[in-house]
Amino acid sequence: MSAQIEINELHWLLAITQSIDVGVVVLDRNYQVQVWNSFMENRSGVPSRDALNHSFFALFPEVSDSWFRKKVESVATLGTPAFTVWEQRPYLVKFKNYQPITAQEEFMYQNTTFLPLRSVTSEINHICVVIYDVTDVAVNRRQLQSSNLQLQELSSTDRLTGLYNRGHWEESLKLEFARHSRYGHAAALIMFDIDHFKRVNDTYGHPVGDVVIQRVASVAKALVRDADIVGRYGGEEFAILLPGTDKAGGRILAERIRAAIEAEEVFHGGARIPFTISLGVADLNSPAKDYKELIEWADQALYASKKGGRNQVSVHG
Ligand code: GH3
Ligand code: MG
Ligand code: MG
Repeated sequence: MSAQIEINELHWLLAITQSIDVGVVVLDRNYQVQVWNSFMENRSGVPSRDALNHSFFALFPEVSDSWFRKKVESVATLGTPAFTVWEQRPYLVKFKNYQPITAQEEFMYQNTTFLPLRSVTSEINHICVVIYDVTDVAVNRRQLQSSNLQLQELSSTDRLTGLYNRGHWEESLKLEFARHSRYGHAAALIMFDIDHFKRVNDTYGHPVGDVVIQRVASVAKALVRDADIVGRYGGEEFAILLPGTDKAGGRILAERIRAAIEAEEVFHGGARIPFTISLGVADLNSPAKDYKELIEWADQALYASKKGGRNQVSVHG
C-alpha cells in the first residue's frame, strides 16, 4: 500500500466519522479526549477544540467516575467490546433531546458501545466510545407500556356479569361522595348478597352458580335507573349506588329487586333452582366521614337482613 492511499484512507475514515449520525469519542488511557466527532459537537455544544485533550470526566460531570473507569478498564484489559443499553441506563452522557416528534422527553436515550482500539503493536492505548441515539425506540416502547397500563385500568367491567367491577364502582362512589361533600347531593347505597350461595355451587356445580350470578346481575340492572351505578362488589355480592336518592327511595328499589329475584326462575336438569338475596340500604343523610363509612353502614344493614332470616331488606340507622 502506498503512502498516498494510506493518507487517503485516513482522510475518508475521518470524513465518515464526522458525518455519521452517532457519537464517536476516542479516549486515551488517561481519559483525555482524542477524537470528538461532529455529532458530539452538535449535541454537547462543545466544539472539538474545547474537547480535545480534555478529560472526559470534566466534560461530562454527570458520568459516574468509578463506574466509567471500571467499564473502560475491563475493555482495555480484556480487549473485548462492552455495551450499555437504555433499558438499564437511559443515557451515558446527558444530551438534550432535539427530535421534534419525541420532544416530550427532555433527554436523549442512548445505547453505547466501548471498543478497544489496538495500535500497530497490538497494544490497547485507546478506547472508542460510540453513542447511539435511541430516543425514538425508547419513547415508543414507554408509550406502549403506559397505554397498556391505562387500558388495564380502563377495563372497568366484570367479565361474568358485564357490571362495573369493584375498582371502577368504588371510584364512582368516591366521586359521588365528593359531590355530596361539596354540594350536599343526596346519595344512597344498596348492597346485597345471594343467600346460601354455597349450597347452589355445592348442589349444582360452579357453572350453574355462575348462571345464577348472571341472572341476579341482569335483574338488578333491569330495575335501576340510568344514573344508578351497579357493581359486582365481590363473588356474589353486589352494590348499587343511587345518586340523588335517600334511604327511603333506596328501600323501595331494594324491595323491588328482592321480590324480582325471588320470582326469577333458573332451571337445571328440569328442576328449578331457588335463590334469594339479602339487602342492606344506607344513605348520606347521616354525616359519613368518608365513602367507606357508607359501605360499612350498608353492609351492617345487609348483615341484619342475614341475621333476620335472609330474603329481606334492612335499612341502616
Ligand atoms: P350467606 O347466605 O350467608 O351469604 O351464605 P353463602 O353461602 O352465600 O355464603 P357466602 O356469601 O360467604 O358465600 C359466597 C360463595 O360464593 C363462596 C364462593 O365459593 C362463591 N362464589 C364466589 N364467587 C363466585 C363465582 O364467581 N361463581 C360461583 N359459581 N361461585 C362464586
Ligand atoms: Mg358473600
Ligand atoms: Mg352469600
